[in-house]
Amino acid sequence: MTINTANFKDSKVIVRVDFNVPLDDNGHITDDTRIRGALPTLKKVLADGGALIIMSHMGKPKGKVNPKLSLGQITEAVSEALGAPVQFAPDCAKAQDAAAALKPGEVLLLENLRFYPEEEGKPVGVEKGTPEFDAAKKEMKERQKEFAKTLASYADFYVMDAFGTAHRKHASTAVIADYFDADHKMLGYLMEKEVTAVDNVLSNIQRPFTAIMGGSKVSTKIGIIENLLGKVDNLILCGGMTYTFAKAQGGEVGGSICELDKLDVALDVIKKAKENGVNLVLGTDCIAADAFSNEANQKVCPAGAIPEGWEGLDAGPESRKAFAAAIKGSKTILWNGPAGVFEFDNFTGGSRAIGEAVAEATAEGAFSLIGGGDSVACVNKFGLADKVSYISTGGGALLEAIEGKTLPGIAAIKG
Ligand code: AMP
Repeated sequence: MTINTANFKDSKVIVRVDFNVPLDDNGHITDDTRIRGALPTLKKVLADGGALIIMSHMGKPKGKVNPKLSLGQITEAVSEALGAPVQFAPDCAKAQDAAAALKPGEVLLLENLRFYPEEEGKPVGVEKGTPEFDAAKKEMKERQKEFAKTLASYADFYVMDAFGTAHRKHASTAVIADYFDADHKMLGYLMEKEVTAVDNVLSNIQRPFTAIMGGSKVSTKIGIIENLLGKVDNLILCGGMTYTFAKAQGGEVGGSICELDKLDVALDVIKKAKENGVNLVLGTDCIAADAFSNEANQKVCPAGAIPEGWEGLDAGPESRKAFAAAIKGSKTILWNGPAGVFEFDNFTGGSRAIGEAVAEATAEGAFSLIGGGDSVACVNKFGLADKVSYISTGGGALLEAIEGKTLPGIAAIKG
């Protein structure tokens, strides 16, 4: 069954969305990209004459109720986006009556799924590696099944449309699918779009293929970096990981973010890039600051000669030129992670230079795929959102899909 061929008339449909939207201190949404992303699926259910049960997680409440992460805060925004009233179920595992009472065209939003540890299915209060852990894990898996079964009992159809969490085997993203037959479960429009975008990059690579990996650390990205070394023509590594590479090559990085236990990993990446004939572009200079602050004093330094008391917070002018040169002329581009602390307005230059080069290459016919909350925020901040080919709602999920891993959220539907 696909979302396009399904007819939801007089049916109840439970849709897993990713409404993990950023909120300010007053609980106001600062970026509603994820809500807008889910609208085509949600509207299709209502247009067919179905009743809608929406479920999502928000943040990391770690299995405990946390009012700051209540989805109740966004009920009104969802209602506005959807153009329909939205009821709120304050306990996602006790919404049987509210779900049963739903009439065609009505909408129920469930409270944050992660207020229950069963959603993620990780044992609580037991240390990994202790004798109790295995038993606790087994018990939690059983509880997770029960939790998924309860959620499934609310509806006739299950639609998975949360790409951002599709790489997690959680109750609502994968386990729940076991309680629906093939004719009553499917991927939503957003998931279909995301999968097509990844396919575009993987199965139809137009060369040169350039990947830009930024962000804070090497350790969280090494899997994808190693994988990309077998696929790309140009690999730009920027952001905080620049300094681990600079240090590994014998440089001095002052107070810059640097993973001392990953120096050998960095050297290995340099070696493998050479072996694979990949043009590895590392930052050679940086904008160093005398404090981790937007107002800090700045100076341009070689990335491997940063004095004590200074830290690299953005790519320098020489690096920006090298990044742009590799990006321009590319035919396929993947960008994940900023080139500096772009949240500080005075340290956005490197990320902006990348964004502008990606936009330019896209105008000349490249397919550009932007993923991960921070790179998406960059593209939005610089007003380049409509100048790139595709903005993914996934960070980790996108990278795992690009690595060629099967995402549990997709496997649960497609087998
Ligand atoms: P990640 O979650 O690993 O993709 O990293 C994103 C974060 O990396 C953003 O919040 C950036 O502020 C941060 N970042 C990028 N460059 C640097 C840098 N040079 N020093 C410290 N943090 C950085």
